[in-house]
Amino acid sequence: MPFCTARMMTEFSKKQYDKMTRLALDVLSDYGFFRFPLDVFALAKKIGMRLIPYSALTFEQYMTLYHEYDMKLGFTISCPEKGYIIYDTYYNDVDLREPTQRFTIAHEIKHVVAGDLLKRDLTENDEALADFFAKSLLAPQAIIVQEGLGSPEEYVKRFRISQQSAEYCYSATENRKSAFGETFLFDYEREFLERVRKYS
Ligand SMILES: [Zn+2]
Repeated sequence: MPFCTARMMTEFSKKQYDKMTRLALDVLSDYGFFRFPLDVFALAKKIGMRLIPYSALTFEQYMTLYHEYDMKLGFTISCPEKGYIIYDTYYNDVDLREPTQRFTIAHEIKHVVAGDLLKRDLTENDEALADFFAKSLLAPQAIIVQEGLGSPEEYVKRFRISQQSAEYCYSATENRKSAFGETFLFDYEREFLERVRKYS
């Protein structure tokens, strides 16, 4: 984008991030997941993803994947099968603790629902947006604001996320509160909370 100024880029990426917040709440609403900590494994399965932990792989299967993919956290392979696209999500349950596994699955959900896997290559921006989506899915700001959660430790407990994610979410929420007010909620967040009240 040769004529893009820094300010335009900032506005552009802000819009993309806002879109991720909405997408996360839409996914939760569409699949009827209103309880937290979120059962992200059940959500992924309901979306149609096949979840394959590394611990279920044989040594040969692991090595075949190892030569082709970055195995640190996890990844998703999409393949057409009988007229459908099947998503096989492999995740590292060997080296990583549960909150990080949950984050990996949430990150992969974004790639599936946003159609990222139909692209030939994912950009750094796709990855950054998937990380942001994962945080919004596991720990929606709407819930944080409504329940008045006041420390990263409370986030860890409420959403079963890692301390590192909790600290990021905490500072993002504090920034939001100073910009919009302690209890301000966007319309789409109110609608989501209404569904949470009704269905959880
Ligand atoms: Zn990714």
